[in-house]
Amino acid sequence: MNKKNNILVLPGDGIGPEVCDEAIKVLKHLNYIYKLDIVIEESAVGGSAYEEFGNPLPEDTLKAAKEADAILLGAVGGPQWDDIDYELRPERALLGLRAELDLFANLRPAILSKYLSDSSSLKPEKVQDLNLLIVRELTGGIYFGEPRGRSKSGDSAFNTMIYSKNEIERIGRIAFEAAQKRNKNICSVDKANVLEVSVLWREVISELSEEYPDVELSHMLVDNAAMQLVRDPKQFDVIVTGNLFGDILSDIAAMLTGSIGMLPSASLNSDNKGMYEPVHGSAPDITGKELANPIAAILSVAMMLKYSFNMNEACSAIEKSIQEVLSEGYRTYDLEGSKENKLSTSEMGNKIIEKIK
Ligand code: NAD
Repeated sequence: MNKKNNILVLPGDGIGPEVCDEAIKVLKHLNYIYKLDIVIEESAVGGSAYEEFGNPLPEDTLKAAKEADAILLGAVGGPQWDDIDYELRPERALLGLRAELDLFANLRPAILSKYLSDSSSLKPEKVQDLNLLIVRELTGGIYFGEPRGRSKSGDSAFNTMIYSKNEIERIGRIAFEAAQKRNKNICSVDKANVLEVSVLWREVISELSEEYPDVELSHMLVDNAAMQLVRDPKQFDVIVTGNLFGDILSDIAAMLTGSIGMLPSASLNSDNKGMYEPVHGSAPDITGKELANPIAAILSVAMMLKYSFNMNEACSAIEKSIQEVLSEGYRTYDLEGSKENKLSTSEMGNKIIEKIK
């Protein structure tokens, strides 16, 4: 018997369930056309899980997440949970899942369809057809380094930026392998002119590159990388960097595309098990109004097919269909476009399915 591909969907809060519904529809359609042997289950997470079970990450959800081959998460959070105990807040579920599943590699593509180049804050010619991928280390570096804290007097505070060779190597591998599936170009970003940890980072990534002769490696200091992202973002294919630098650079890259409803992300562990989620949050201001753009969630499914299941044909089918829908002028309400071509959340999902071949 063929091994089934088990996908756990965690819709979460706000527009999370709305965009996940569309992503599941697309996934089921692809499952039918391409015979992907996909089995889909659903569990509670975030604020809605807190309401039902008193815990944003219930035991059963965590167990199901550990058993699944890949996870699709909608979004968590909302103003109604802003004042509850920190440990019980919806966002804790995300941190819990990342830590329990050891999801150390965060992949954030910044893709701008040529049909949407007017939405960027940069001139259209600078960003048209932009397609770069930021690979950020997610479970180490200065955000987790010890010692950390305040001095006894309270007059100073400190954090530790620390990476081991092993941590750098494993994020490097994910980045090199991703580059092999793209334009075979990596830029490793650090601050090696000032930080010892960056000198080690550069050494390990350079050594690793010998195992990937088909991928071209360059190094860039983070201050220059921030500048280059705004000056000429299309020079990049894959950027690999640590937790702190990646946090900042991935938000710069996201803004280049101008539309948060279009951006997917993946967090992977060393077995290529991944949690895939749109970059946006639960958008309480538009929840329940059929105004949410489901494309970020649908592109998260495309990433899942590519990175967790190596189903490249099915992944391209989604990407192509989205381009076709956009080229015909169809838009959700967050995207500029003519009134008569505006689609609701579910209409956009249906249109994308209609074009999948
Ligand atoms: P947000 O991303 O939810 O919304 C920011 C703005 O973008 C809003 O105006 C919203 O309407 C719009 N928007 C977001 N996604 C959209 C989509 N798919 N289509 C159309 N418009 C969209 O960020 P926020 O308002 O700062 O946060 C709201 C809640 O979401 C908070 O509780 C926050 O903690 C949570 N949050 C969760 C995640 C996550 O689950 N990964 C990420 C960010 C924020």
